[in-house]
Amino acid sequence: MSSTSVSVLVPMAGPQLEFQSTVNTIRAYLASTGLAFEVLPIKPTASERYGVLLRRGAAEATGDAIVIVDPDLPYRVEAIGDAVALIDSAATDIVFGSTGAIASRHLLLRWLIGALPDRTIRLKAFSREAARLVLEETKLAGEECDLEVAFLANKYGFRVETLHLDLQRSVSSKRTFTPASVYAAIRIRMINRRMGYRAGRRCPVCFSNDVRTLAQISGNVVRICSRCKCRYLNDFTRSSGVGPPRRALRAHPPAGEGEPPVGKHSDRARQKTSGRRLSTLRRHLAPRARVLEVGVRDGSFGAAAGSEFEYVGIDYAMAAVRNARARGLEVYAAALSNFVNTGRSFDAVVLHHVFENMPDPHDALARIKDLLRPGGFLFLTTFDTEGLLYVVTEKKLFAQLFGQHLVLYSRSALIELLERSGFEIDTIGPDFEYRDHRLVRHWIGSHWPGLAPLVSAIIRLLPDPMLVSSGSIRIIAQRRAGAPIDTRVVRSAEPTHAR
Ligand SMILES: [Zn+2]
Repeated sequence: MSSTSVSVLVPMAGPQLEFQSTVNTIRAYLASTGLAFEVLPIKPTASERYGVLLRRGAAEATGDAIVIVDPDLPYRVEAIGDAVALIDSAATDIVFGSTGAIASRHLLLRWLIGALPDRTIRLKAFSREAARLVLEETKLAGEECDLEVAFLANKYGFRVETLHLDLQRSVSSKRTFTPASVYAAIRIRMINRRMGYRAGRRCPVCFSNDVRTLAQISGNVVRICSRCKCRYLNDFTRSSGVGPPRRALRAHPPAGEGEPPVGKHSDRARQKTSGRRLSTLRRHLAPRARVLEVGVRDGSFGAAAGSEFEYVGIDYAMAAVRNARARGLEVYAAALSNFVNTGRSFDAVVLHHVFENMPDPHDALARIKDLLRPGGFLFLTTFDTEGLLYVVTEKKLFAQLFGQHLVLYSRSALIELLERSGFEIDTIGPDFEYRDHRLVRHWIGSHWPGLAPLVSAIIRLLPDPMLVSSGSIRIIAQRRAGAPIDTRVVRSAEPTHAR
């Protein structure tokens, strides 16, 4: 049996008789589920209003899941069980019951608050941690406390799931959002501005408090930092098992085994991309310079660089390491944090789309700086959340991008990050990669189907593979000699914060 315990809060409103029958129905239902439970009828004293009742109930509740129900229970009592199941399975932290009435209205309120609860019913469920922060941090006394709950759920980065319910009878009160709700929403924003609520967890890149939820994706939440414009997964540990998620999704086939799966770039496209990247290195490094690649992937860059430079590669994934070694490359199974350089310091460190997979950019850059000789170069290729291509495709890409990456950086955040970590920016420019025609056609077809015939006709005239922008930038930075500004000191001095 499940060990989950459930607390059901029934804030009283309306006649005593109806209220008592609701409490009895819920008790009878929960007893039949085998869950450990408590039902807490919250009777108001003379002047207590809805918001006050919620906070009192949340403080008294002891369950792992806390459910708030309507005193007249206008939906099936099993809805409580459904909400608890969502919390219990860790699919979400918060559940808002919905009758489907507020589908896409109240744009102004949405803009001020984020995802809204349905006003017609009160059913909501919280995990213990979510209740502790979201319910107990509320300040408003009246009905508008619901809006505050929604705002705080967004502020603290909880996953919110909507549970659709059919009403069995009409609800006793016709609650809806009114101009007074907008006034309340503005008040909530003002309280937040004055730091009236406990601070949320800071941005992992710039440590700003000014962060919010951008999107709810399967099992996780994408957060955005208003200061540095980075996007990041709320919970890094949830994204996959061990190692960076990309490795798990795109396992390298053992050397010489079958064709690459559909959707991967052809060998020729990868070789041409590697050749292009290598020519950038050539412009900055002397022949036989010592180069470290973090994340070797299929080894195509190593194979190209190995003939001109003293190449060393590291990768988490054993399959990638074996594959690269089979090509005669010096590659170690190690993460950046535990790699030990036994030779002289590196003249260059190269990262092609791996920086996004690292949970702590500050530690990573400090480590890279240690591995480089003074004056050595860092070659970094990564997405740019301020780039035009990224901006127009972001909504469609969320699930895909955050299936593979932990943090997506903006150009300005990277510049600040590098300069604070002891690097000097040499050049920044768009990154181009070679893509096969079939992939470009597929990509255009899935994003802008209307343009597909025209684009197909045009690219037939171009060489295959062709050079395209993936919305990424290439930054070349040089290790400064002097003492770095140690941002880790700043971080350890930060006050405690929520979550
Ligand atoms: Zn930030």
